[in-house]
Amino acid sequence: MDVAESPILARMKIANRLPAPKGVALEVINLTQREEVSNQDIVRLIGVDPALSMRVIKAANVLLTNPSRPIATIADSVTVLGVHALRQLVLGIALIVDYRHGPCKQFNYPHFWAHSLLTGIAAKHLAARTRLAVSEEIFVLGLLGNIGQLALATAYPAEYGEMLEQVRGKTLEELRQMERDKFECDQAELSEAILADMRFPKIFQTLAHDFRQPDSSKMAEGSREWRLLHILHVASLLADACLASPAERGGLVAKLRLYAARVAIEKDHLVEIGDACVHDWLEWLELLNMKMVHIPPFAELLSQSETADSSAELSQCAYANQTDYKMRVLVVEDDRAMLVLLEAMLKAAGHEVLTARNGVDALGIVERQRPQLVITGWTLPEMDGIALCRKLRESPERRDVYVIILTAQENVDMLVEAFDAGADDYLVKPVAQKIFFARLRAAQRVVRLQEELAFDREQLLRFSKDLAASNERLQRLALTDALTELPNRRLAMERIEQEWAMSKRGDRTLSCLMVDVDHFKPINDKFGHQIGDEVLKIIADTLRKSARAQDVVCRYGGEEFVVICPDSAIDAAYQCAERLRLSVAALKFKNQGVGIGLTISVGVAQKKEGIASIDELLNRADECLYAAKQGGRNRTVCAK
Ligand code: GH3
Ligand code: MG
Ligand code: MG
Repeated sequence: MDVAESPILARMKIANRLPAPKGVALEVINLTQREEVSNQDIVRLIGVDPALSMRVIKAANVLLTNPSRPIATIADSVTVLGVHALRQLVLGIALIVDYRHGPCKQFNYPHFWAHSLLTGIAAKHLAARTRLAVSEEIFVLGLLGNIGQLALATAYPAEYGEMLEQVRGKTLEELRQMERDKFECDQAELSEAILADMRFPKIFQTLAHDFRQPDSSKMAEGSREWRLLHILHVASLLADACLASPAERGGLVAKLRLYAARVAIEKDHLVEIGDACVHDWLEWLELLNMKMVHIPPFAELLSQSETADSSAELSQCAYANQTDYKMRVLVVEDDRAMLVLLEAMLKAAGHEVLTARNGVDALGIVERQRPQLVITGWTLPEMDGIALCRKLRESPERRDVYVIILTAQENVDMLVEAFDAGADDYLVKPVAQKIFFARLRAAQRVVRLQEELAFDREQLLRFSKDLAASNERLQRLALTDALTELPNRRLAMERIEQEWAMSKRGDRTLSCLMVDVDHFKPINDKFGHQIGDEVLKIIADTLRKSARAQDVVCRYGGEEFVVICPDSAIDAAYQCAERLRLSVAALKFKNQGVGIGLTISVGVAQKKEGIASIDELLNRADECLYAAKQGGRNRTVCAK
């Protein structure tokens, strides 16, 4: 449907109830619509109405923030503003002058214009930095953006007045619903239709429709229109906050700061713009003979929001899908509105949010609470975002945390600096929700992979530790005799080889004892194999305890043991053998009260000239052992 054809607009036109400029202003509007119009014609026409002339000149001076010289004539105004802007300005001024009072008793006409003017001025100031639109045009859009409501109040004073009484304390959405029910058209739709009728560009018509409730707009996030829409919205919130009663102001200021943060307008900037707006606004009020209102300095006004919680305003985040992988995210930002905005978006996606206002606090939180993701502003008090990044990367435990840095501009050198400092990604303010959540998903993928990797690494480490332990156990088992727990023959041979090699290198000596239990077979035969095992264990224990610390006692075979005596010549080895023999002989072993005498025989040999190998050494000891047996057992025989 063509908005210009809206039935209510048609009806209002027929009834001649549409707010419209009259007299000279109307002629100026009509004239400027003609293509062949000359600036001279316009100048002449405006000059017919001295009051209008004066207001146009003054307005042009207020609107142009930095004219090279003051505008003194209508001719200058036309040249400087251009025909389009002038036409819109005349329209705005004419409407304010003609509709400062009206028939609807419940509609506060002066307040409506004071608010609209402030919205227009704020929109102009906010847009000035962004170069998104011609500032004079956006001023008029702010000024006339809500003209639909004025039209409803003026065209249907009784009905609309009644509705205003019913709607007290309700939301804008509820008022719009009532308007639609009663008039088949609400104030936003009507504003759009009237601007269409006044031949404003199409985009301005759409902006007028959407700007009071930007969250339900269909404009693509981050696009030029979307940013203009938000600038207009912030401008209207600024007007709301200024004109609110002190009781309502805190909440409205918080909301203003939040939406300003969405378009990257932070506190200092807002203070500067706010004060400039109020200054201009007072000039306009004077120019239009309107009642002056006192507004406190902006720094003071904004401080009223520090305690108000407005995160609920952002509970609807259009692009936030509930995450299936909840992260612990630390947001580091000194601008409270930006902080609240990021916090609200993260929470909307289901993440756990920690916050810090400077880099030093952030480090402490990282230390204690181990967030997986850090989103940090660039300029922060005490320690900035870049220094924070570096600090995190320095610490081995914190090195893995994923860091996204917020920057005011996509400047190549700055980005290189951020990546060099260790940032993983960046976000440019204003933070568009769609981009924000896309980046968040990328971070999530990395964090998740990292955690899986860490888990695998830990698992692997545990496995390898288990494996090492069981290998060690197996090795010990492979070298230990199960019955006596002494080193077995394999280990005995390894140890002799080591000692043999060492004695060769260091000119050290080495002796060996060959031990055999005397008459062991009869013990087995008489008392059984189990008792035989007991006896072997006791003898093994006795040998171990009686040997010197450096001696190695091993089980060599059935009831045979070998004792390696490093650094021992034959005499010392003999003494050792005797000590072992006497200890065994002294054992008082009993089975069921019957004493069993136990003795051993020992053969001793020393490594010396003529003994070329280990086998020879052991053979020599064995020969001595045989000699000991032959000699009557329970004795020690040394090799010559
Ligand atoms: P000698 O004084 O001449 O050495 O006489 P002996 O009986 O000790 O000698 P012999 O070689 O005839 O017997 C050794 C016995 O040791 C034979 C074997 O059954 C027994 N034996 C070997 N290993 C074990 C064991 O692990 N446990 C038990 N209970 N007996 C064993
Ligand atoms: Mg024996
Ligand atoms: Mg034997």
